[in-house]
Amino acid sequence: MANGCEFEFMEYMDEQSIDPNLICSICHKPLKDPVCTSCDHTYGRACITRWLNQNDIGSCPMCLKKPLSINELTQASRPLRNMLDQLRVQCLLCTQTGLQRGNFVDHMNKVCPKSVIQCQAADIKCPWKGPRDELQNHMIACVFEPLRPVLSTLIAENRQLIDQVQKHDNEIKALAQKMYQLQKSKHIPQWNTRLQVNISYATRKNLSDCGKANNRK
Ligand SMILES: [Zn+2]
Ligand SMILES: [Zn+2]
Ligand SMILES: [Zn+2]
Ligand SMILES: [Zn+2]
Repeated sequence: MANGCEFEFMEYMDEQSIDPNLICSICHKPLKDPVCTSCDHTYGRACITRWLNQNDIGSCPMCLKKPLSINELTQASRPLRNMLDQLRVQCLLCTQTGLQRGNFVDHMNKVCPKSVIQCQAADIKCPWKGPRDELQNHMIACVFEPLRPVLSTLIAENRQLIDQVQKHDNEIKALAQKMYQLQKSKHIPQWNTRLQVNISYATRKNLSDCGKANNRK
C-alpha cells in the first residue's frame, strides 16, 4: 500500500480529546509524518510541503518567518512520533476499534478481514481480488491454483520467449544500422546485391527508420 493512503481507511477515536500539540495547524488533523521548521513549528510533511510550494517565498504559517524552504524541514522528535503512533483509531473497513495508528498499516496488510487482497495464485495470473475473509472460499473454487505446475512452466517459457524476441529484435536493429553505414560508405561489393534483395521486410523497415533518423541529424 502506498505511503499515506491507508489513512483513508481509518478514523480517530475520541478525536476531540487528542492533545492539541499533536494537531497539524494547517489541516487541523493529527500530524502525519511530522516535520519541524527552523522556527520550531511542527506540521505534517504533506501539508507544509503543499503550503511552501504554493508560495514563491515560503513562510511559516504560524509565525510567518521568511524565508522558509522545504530543505530546512527536519523530522520531528521520536517522542512526538511515538505519541502519534499510539493514537487510537478505528478501522473503517472491518470496524475494529482500539487499534494503534502506528500499527494500522500492519492491520491492513496482514490482519484486516475486509481489506482487499489478491488470490494466492496471483503470480500465475489468477485475477481474483477480494476481502481477506473471502480468500478461503475462493481458494476452494480457484481454477488457477490446481494448475500451478502447468501454468508456472508455461509462464516461465513465455518469459524466455519474450526475452529471446527482444534479443533478436536488438540484433536486427544493430545489423540494419551496420548495413546502412556500409551502404553509405559504398563498401558493399556488387556481388552482394542479391543478399540485399533478401533482407527481410522487418530489416528493410529498420534500415529506412535508421536512414530517416540519420537524415534528421
Ligand atoms: Zn496537516
Ligand atoms: Zn514558525
Ligand atoms: Zn480492519
Ligand atoms: Zn484464485
